[in-house]
Amino acid sequence: MPDTRLPPLPELLSTAVAAVGGTERPGQVRMAAAVANAIRTGNHLAVQAGTGTGKSLAYLVPALRYAVEREATVVVSTATIALQRQLVDRDLPRLAAALAEPLGRTPTFAILKGRRNYLCLHRLSGGVPEEPDDAALFDPFAVSRLGREVTRLREWSEKSETGDRDELVPGVTEQAWRQVSVSARECLGAARCPVGTDCFAERAKAEAGRVDIVVTNHALLAIDALQGYQVLPDHDLVIVDEAHDLVDRVTSVATAELTPAAVTAAARRCGRLIDQDIADRLVEAGDGYALLLADLPAGRLDRLPDPLAATLTATRDAAHACLTRLGPDRPGDLESATTRKLALALLEEVHDTAVRLVEAFDTDDRTRRDVVWCSGGETGSPRPPALKVAPLAVAGLLRERLFGTCTTVLTSATLTLGGTFDAMARQWGLPVTQSEAVKAEGTATDKAPPAEGDDRPKWTGLDVGSPFEHERSGILYVAKHLPPPGRDGLPPSYLDELAGLIEAAGGRTLGLFSSMRAAKQAAESLRDRVGVPILCQGEDSTALLVTKFASDVATCLFGTLSLWQGVDVPGPSLQLVVVDRIPFPRPDDPLASARQRAVEARGGNGFLTVAAAHAALLLAQGTGRLLRSTTDRGVIAILDPRLATARYGGFLRASLPQYWTTFDPEVTRAALRRLNAAD
Ligand code: SF4
Repeated sequence: MPDTRLPPLPELLSTAVAAVGGTERPGQVRMAAAVANAIRTGNHLAVQAGTGTGKSLAYLVPALRYAVEREATVVVSTATIALQRQLVDRDLPRLAAALAEPLGRTPTFAILKGRRNYLCLHRLSGGVPEEPDDAALFDPFAVSRLGREVTRLREWSEKSETGDRDELVPGVTEQAWRQVSVSARECLGAARCPVGTDCFAERAKAEAGRVDIVVTNHALLAIDALQGYQVLPDHDLVIVDEAHDLVDRVTSVATAELTPAAVTAAARRCGRLIDQDIADRLVEAGDGYALLLADLPAGRLDRLPDPLAATLTATRDAAHACLTRLGPDRPGDLESATTRKLALALLEEVHDTAVRLVEAFDTDDRTRRDVVWCSGGETGSPRPPALKVAPLAVAGLLRERLFGTCTTVLTSATLTLGGTFDAMARQWGLPVTQSEAVKAEGTATDKAPPAEGDDRPKWTGLDVGSPFEHERSGILYVAKHLPPPGRDGLPPSYLDELAGLIEAAGGRTLGLFSSMRAAKQAAESLRDRVGVPILCQGEDSTALLVTKFASDVATCLFGTLSLWQGVDVPGPSLQLVVVDRIPFPRPDDPLASARQRAVEARGGNGFLTVAAAHAALLLAQGTGRLLRSTTDRGVIAILDPRLATARYGGFLRASLPQYWTTFDPEVTRAALRRLNAAD
């Protein structure tokens, strides 16, 4: 029976905040009330809450209250493992202890990941025949390393309580992990599996069904919502943290890839179970596909060349013939059931992807829903060539399968672009109702839901601002006097500018570059010049580099994309964030360019809707590395003058908090010198 005698939300929030040793902040209180309102009304909520708001408590407290009151399970989804760990190792244990008394029992929680993340005991016990790849067979070093890793995994399986890959430190190679794990498609099913009752993945799933809060990732949320496998327990409330990454993660789940190796592996698996000549047709189709791919340049395909269409059709038909001969999954002895299951999984994957690749070109350019491109295989690329297919947009899927099925709260420090939620709402499939936007209290933007009777998903956008005083704590410096960035690496004037800024700051610099090439060029040319240590991504594990950077104020760290989102270094070690160029997607990015073209075909501004929105999001994330606590001070230096001079510059600047802005390099260097002297 639902318990309706629980304390009101403000009281629970105060108890929770006191228990974690924090102070209640207006943004946090406002956000918690909005989450509770979304739960009560069923209207979705997008809430932007700056760093330092305490947003995890602001959604966990109302979510726990709801879960206990309704005896329901609430799903909390994150993009990163770091946030997952923070929730299950720090926030939820403390909250569970603090709220046990007022809620009348100790709230419970668990973490749930995709099946591939758990060790498969059946596979480990030799129940699944190995299929080492050909390259490894000819490389004795790789074989012995693989053997050592699998032996280590075997020993670990006896000690591990969870079988969760992320708990294995140090980790193992992907190749070794694949020897001891299965995908959802390959799993025999707990009822049939001889070790199903001890299965780590099954135990995690059962545990998730019994708890109040299940913490998961966007990929599993997408599989549950979009792909028709029920992997999450029944739920009617989802909280999506790091929601700025939702569309990319969902797109990844909905992206398929066909490699010649996958075709060969499928043929090899089923060759032992069906007539060889039927399996040979698939081998031949795979060989033909490999030959054509080898000559195909990387990039988007707007037209399917006839020979490629013929070979994909042949692959599809050959895979279908194998599937038909194999017949549906049926009871049998365990060994043959396992072998059949693996063959079926591989064949279905090949067949379904070939169907999707061929069908992607069924309609003309303007109405296509899928984008196809050739990837990998370039000189120096570690990945073999493959055709990939991804949805042009996931808005329709999210609207129907996520927003259409449960109340959803989306939150992040970065959800408004150009000052409104419109760009993100469009990508999520929520109605854009710009005219209804109401500005309140400076940065706060409240957006009313659509009128009653409208069957589009109802949602509210709320920006609770930030506890930081951006205008007093941070300077945004745009190097307007520099030339626009070119194609041939960083020009000397950029390096001179960077050197002057780093010297003034006394190190303490995070350099966020648009390419690894630029990061390396800057590190190499400045090392002898600036007299402070410069670390560059790739020289060690990123986590270790960030630790070194944080522990020595003089040290600088240069890098690219993962640093844009993953560095959290409060204090004096980080007082200058430098961005070399506005992070637009590459012009040859197949998905971004196709999305841009689709917007233009509908009469919209493709550049602003796709490329500028992408850049705005990354820029807000990257520059957000500067202020991580209320006492932090510093400078964001954008070397790319287009932020000040281009027409879209205003949109990009409006996507950032209101820093004090200058174009004067000397004013900026003087401010950095003062900060340096003050420490
Ligand atoms: S149920 Fe599936 S994942 Fe679990 S041990 Fe068996 S085959 Fe492996």
